[in-house]
Amino acid sequence: MPRTQTCLNWGLIGASNIAKTRMIPAIRSLPDSTITAVLSSNAERAKSYAAENSIPKAYHKLDDFLQDPEIDLVYISTTNELHAAQAIAAARAGKHILSDKPLALTLADAEAMVRTAKEKGLVFGTNHHLRNAVTHRTIRRLIKEGVIGKPLAARVFHAVYLPPHLQGWRVNRPEAGGGVILDITVHDADTLHFLLDDDVQDVVARSAQQGLGQGDLADAVMGVMYFRNGTLAMFHDAFTIKHTQTGVEVHGTEGSLIAKNVMTQDPVGEVFLSRDGAISEVALGEPEDLYVHIVRHFHEAVQGRGQPFATGEDGVRSLAVGLAVQESAKTGQRVPVRYQTEEQIADGK
Ligand code: NDP
Repeated sequence: MPRTQTCLNWGLIGASNIAKTRMIPAIRSLPDSTITAVLSSNAERAKSYAAENSIPKAYHKLDDFLQDPEIDLVYISTTNELHAAQAIAAARAGKHILSDKPLALTLADAEAMVRTAKEKGLVFGTNHHLRNAVTHRTIRRLIKEGVIGKPLAARVFHAVYLPPHLQGWRVNRPEAGGGVILDITVHDADTLHFLLDDDVQDVVARSAQQGLGQGDLADAVMGVMYFRNGTLAMFHDAFTIKHTQTGVEVHGTEGSLIAKNVMTQDPVGEVFLSRDGAISEVALGEPEDLYVHIVRHFHEAVQGRGQPFATGEDGVRSLAVGLAVQESAKTGQRVPVRYQTEEQIADGK
């Protein structure tokens, strides 16, 4: 059985950039939590990463890492093809799991990750950061309050330029789950689900290679997600666009919410409400670092209060949309989106 305690000790699976730049500072900003160990597939990199980031223990074998009784929680941020096996092994070793997205490369693997954690009574979260932003939380609340009436359409502008230091496996390793769809579109799917409180029924998409993607990896995609309640959502995701900001718009029967610079890792952006012929800026609550918000909620869930801000089921759902977008882009067909709820996953149906 997992331990319940006040001081939570993290182990990092993956000597990654996202852990270094976002998650280590987020974990360290919270009281009663420490980072005990890091795992890399390479012994030298494990040691140097641990030293650079003041992490006491460095491992290069998953089994040794998972046998460390001091580790209570793991954060997985390896390349995408590795998440599933690492998460399942971590669950079998009794560790709570926060996995980065996409959870896996197949729905069956993602479901197995969630199911194994549930069977062991462990908390499983997905590192979808965007829904943690005060901007998105405010938009969701306003939609729920009926401020824009029934949502009819949404537009997601999530086309960015992939910085040179990240132009590795994302653009040249299909077997690692590279490509813009599993990298960015899954975040759109989670954000839209969160904002609209609705599920995608089917998708159509067209992808392209615009200079960065190698092999068959797309570096740009546009498409439409059709939600069960009838909302149409268009999305543009890319690694190739240098000269614009991101954004989200939701247009309803009574008004529109227009959010600028909000599909980002930083706690920034503005939200405007257009209604009755006037546009006004929406007052947002205090911005909090998105990753601190993720970790804080994850800690609370581990301590028996609530659930992760994005659950395992959320990760399965966003992957289902991402895989459907990939298939639609490949076949030119409209593709239905099907995924299991947490209860169905637990039942193994
Ligand atoms: P990185 O490329 O930084 O790290 C991924 C893996 O690459 C590491 O686990 C590491 O393997 C290996 N690696 C890293 N640096 C080197 C190096 N110098 N030489 C050789 N190998 C190296 O990936 P990211 O941090 O960008 O992404 C990791 C995961 O996090 C992905 O699943 C991604 O989708 C997700 N992500 C999520 C974000 C979010 O906001 N939710 C944002 C960014 C990424 P090893 O551990 O074996 O050393």
